[in-house]
Amino acid sequence: HARPYHKASRRKQPVAERITSNLTPSESSSNDVSEPEFPTASESKEWRARVARIMKRLPKGVDEAAAKQILNEIVIHGDEVHWSDIAGLDAAKSALKETVVYPFLRPDLFMGLREPARGMLLFGPPGTGKTMLARAVATESKSTFFAISASSLTSKYLGESEKLVRALFALAKALAPSIIFVDEIDSLLSSRSGSSEHEATRRIKTEFLIQWSDLARAAAGRETSEKDKEKGDASRVLVLAATNLPWAIDEAARRRFVRRQYIPLPEDHVRAVQIRTLLSHQKHSLSDGDIDALVQLTNGFSGSDITALAKDAAMGPLRSLGEKLLHMTMDEIRPMSFVDFEASLVSIRPSVSRQGLKQYEDWAQEFGERG
Ligand code: ADP
Repeated sequence: HARPYHKASRRKQPVAERITSNLTPSESSSNDVSEPEFPTASESKEWRARVARIMKRLPKGVDEAAAKQILNEIVIHGDEVHWSDIAGLDAAKSALKETVVYPFLRPDLFMGLREPARGMLLFGPPGTGKTMLARAVATESKSTFFAISASSLTSKYLGESEKLVRALFALAKALAPSIIFVDEIDSLLSSRSGSSEHEATRRIKTEFLIQWSDLARAAAGRETSEKDKEKGDASRVLVLAATNLPWAIDEAARRRFVRRQYIPLPEDHVRAVQIRTLLSHQKHSLSDGDIDALVQLTNGFSGSDITALAKDAAMGPLRSLGEKLLHMTMDEIRPMSFVDFEASLVSIRPSVSRQGLKQYEDWAQEFGERG
């Protein structure tokens, strides 16, 4: 499957692999270059052994099948993302370091008034790096990363979802420090409650909120309760959630996210950084002036739109060759040029409209931290 951009930017990756991973065309015609699904747990020996150990000593009351499912599908390991893989978003990175990374690495310094937040919401247009940030937080804080999309909770796992939610929090405590990353949190905590809300969805939502509150309570009493310690370290579990629809989250749930971080579209200088990074893995003939022009032409693009654009443009040198490309050496392929980008710009357009953007800006103004 298409490799994510961050992986391609690893310097130690062999050149040939970098080139092919960067050239992988997106299969759909939309700009969506996010990975189709989180990569499932790799079958490394070390991980399998760890899973076996965990399964043998499951915390009480945790459903075995649910635990297995979580360890296999929801815990992400390997395939790391680092801060430097993410272009821009400096304010968000600082906020996340202060809220999660430092407290996880030095819990002794973050007590009392400095008690870390239990939840943080990342909101903004799609494809701006929210998922990448969450994964970087997990890497940089050396945490176990549990990634679940709320819409899969209410569809794929429906029926077992409550058990799954309970197992999720129990395992997060047992494997602390842990990040529970909930993508599309709006579909779980939306305000369309009342009669129209599906009964099962309402139960999952309730279970999620109960588990989350318990976590905060256990963490607050961590010095006194030795018993809780046996269940794991609740003080080092954080719920990190992402949404493209922040206004859909109901008020009570919204207030639980003490920190709400706006993840905006990339500004000029950030787009420049991202474009240069993407091009650095590719043979190209773009001058500094061309890149400046490209930065102007991609005003309003998200990080994911830019990746999609670069991938499409990278196909340019191959497109005119047809079957001939099968017999050509790497050196015979012409470098990517500005013209390739111009051609791709016809079909790859920003996925957020100006009007859509205003909605985010307004919500950020009222409820969020900017950056
Ligand atoms: P979101 O979770 O906000 O919808 P993702 O973090 O999944 O977006 O980003 C999707 C893809 O877009 C990434 O895999 C990456 O290729 C690209 N991308 C988005 N934002 C950035 C960024 N700030 N820096 C580098 N790449 C980015």
